[in-house]
Amino acid sequence: MQEIVRILLVEDDHEDYLITRDLIRGISNEKRYVLDWAATYDDAVRVLKERRHDVCLIDYNLGLYSGLDVVKACATSEYLIPFIFLTGQSDYELDNQVMQAGATDFLVKGDVTSKDIERTIRYGIQHVRGLDKIRSLSVTLEKRVEERTRALAETVLALEASNFTLQKAIHDKEVAQERALDALHKEIKLNELKSRFITMASHEFRTPLSTILSSLHLLQHHVAGVAEDKTARHFQRIRSNVTLLTELLNDFLSLEKLEAGKMNVSPENFDLHELVEETRREMEDSAKPGQTIQYFSRCANQPCMVTLDKRHVKGILINLLSNAIKYSEEGKEIKIELVCDPSKYHIKVTDHGIGIPEDEQEHLFELFFRARNVTNIKGTGLGLNIVTKYLNLMGGSIAFTSELEVGSTFTVSIPVHQITTGKTSVLP
Ligand code: ADP
Repeated sequence: MQEIVRILLVEDDHEDYLITRDLIRGISNEKRYVLDWAATYDDAVRVLKERRHDVCLIDYNLGLYSGLDVVKACATSEYLIPFIFLTGQSDYELDNQVMQAGATDFLVKGDVTSKDIERTIRYGIQHVRGLDKIRSLSVTLEKRVEERTRALAETVLALEASNFTLQKAIHDKEVAQERALDALHKEIKLNELKSRFITMASHEFRTPLSTILSSLHLLQHHVAGVAEDKTARHFQRIRSNVTLLTELLNDFLSLEKLEAGKMNVSPENFDLHELVEETRREMEDSAKPGQTIQYFSRCANQPCMVTLDKRHVKGILINLLSNAIKYSEEGKEIKIELVCDPSKYHIKVTDHGIGIPEDEQEHLFELFFRARNVTNIKGTGLGLNIVTKYLNLMGGSIAFTSELEVGSTFTVSIPVHQITTGKTSVLP
């Protein structure tokens, strides 16, 4: 099939149009040249935008416009067409100008042959096809770069996600290890506690048990011959020793529960004033001869309703009162005071007992601690530690003052509004 070359001539001079037409007609090769003519700037722009032509021959002077204006209006990166300028004379400046504006070549009118036109058109078309190829290659390249960039970004994202998963797994593992270690420490502490208790119990149980046994033996074999007051004394000894052993076991069991974190907090609504009074009465029964326990409520509210774990508050009171009884002589007075302020309840237990040596006071709340002045008084060194643990569950605190041979005062403070996670603060 014969190749057709479509030419648009932009020329405002009819004469020049005819000359150019004849020159094109004079081209002799196997192609067919079809020539269209646009005589004004507007026509040229309109026709060029239809994109029907393979080449544009363009006069430099177009009345009000110049050929350069046409090139500027139509030459875009999407539409490449060779613009070949026709000028009246050879001018280097003009040549440079038109080439910079996007023209492919230029010919000098009157100095052109059909051969020149054919060759310039052929080269121009060739040149533009080359440019087109480069452009489509660069588009393909850009697309490929874009695809690769996207793929890279996706890989980075995937890597980041897997990195995050990995870090989370490491973190989870660390947390699990920490928990396991924590449980292990707890277990070790409990085992230590148990073995210390067994050692202690093997000593502490022996004396009360042999006292009970000897009293029972005496009562069993000589009951008829034993005077009534002696019988009563033996029964009292049995009772107090059994109480001692029960206390010992209770202390240990509470401590084990507290240490293992198995002690629940079950708050209930009760009258604090009534609980103090009830405990006072119970403890007075086991007081030494002549010891009295006085109770003063400085609480404006009667009854003093609170929402706390009653067992824990009672446990604290029993521990403090039994210490006050244990570490005071017969006939000494013990005092309980209940003070309420808007945010806390304070329970004070004061005795006139043996007191705590000053240099040992800092160890008072440590597990198994017993001061050097109590070696001949029975005890386990667990009670005060249990008190701090109960207070810990209630967000409370304990403070004390003590003087040797003068007495001691222990003050526990419990917040009205419970902060269950709070730690016990031990005030000096
Ligand atoms: P326990 O009384 O069984 O020894 P605690 O933990 O209750 O154990 O008390 C620890 C130690 O603190 C006692 O052994 C004693 O040395 C001292 N202590 C506690 N309360 C008093 C008190 N009211 N007067 C004197 N010393 C006390």
